[in-house]
Amino acid sequence: MNTALIEIKNLIKDYQTGAGSVRILNDVSLNVNAGEFVAVVGPSGSGKSTLINMLTGIDRPTSGTISVAGTRVDGMSENAMARWRGRTIGVIFQFFQLLPTLTILENVMLPMDFCRAYPLRERKDRALHLLDQVGMTEQAHKLPNAVSGGQQQRAAIARALANDPPLIVGDEPTGNLYSKTADQVFKMFGDLTRQGKTLVMVTHDRELASRIPRVVRVQDGRVV
Ligand code: ADP
Ligand code: MG
Repeated sequence: MNTALIEIKNLIKDYQTGAGSVRILNDVSLNVNAGEFVAVVGPSGSGKSTLINMLTGIDRPTSGTISVAGTRVDGMSENAMARWRGRTIGVIFQFFQLLPTLTILENVMLPMDFCRAYPLRERKDRALHLLDQVGMTEQAHKLPNAVSGGQQQRAAIARALANDPPLIVGDEPTGNLYSKTADQVFKMFGDLTRQGKTLVMVTHDRELASRIPRVVRVQDGRVV
């Protein structure tokens, strides 16, 4: 029997604008099983990022429920949310979001420091091991802006893995990379699913999406 790692039920998200309330997500229900690799595709403005931000708890639904690994994400307090997310979800962004004043190594250690998921004396070795996995050992002591975009994204992947979360979520993680680099990063995501991780990735890239086992299409705030 498959266990659903993600359970989204009847999700509605309205934003208040000057012109009144606008419905961005309209009754979205979606289950993702542990170990799945899911692409989220759809036109610009269709609600993909909004959906991803609900899943990671960065934003909150107007109504409906979201559970990840058996925990209700909607309605969790801000404090509990940050630590829970740090342990449960590795988030990868289009523009990497590495902290510019910290070295690559320090960036990768940050989630471990925040969640105290690993003893202090183990964190550096673990970060170096993760950087080795993504081919970034030689860049470990550099600042993010001293390395290429593809290298920054590989560091961001190492950071996303820092606390060994079951779920990795990316919002167009290859959207700012050259196609050859995007391909390398994409292959890393494939490796992660083979290691038992669950991946949910928004992408505009049709070619990449065609290589992902399950494609979820969002259109006008609905999963179609
Ligand atoms: P996608 O990621 O598919 O391009 P988004 O989820 O970013 O789409 O946005 C969906 C729609 O919601 C867009 O029309 C966008 O303008 C609108 N939107 C996103 N965030 C807000 C917000 N904070 N306030 C009002 N409207 C928003
Ligand atoms: Mg988006």
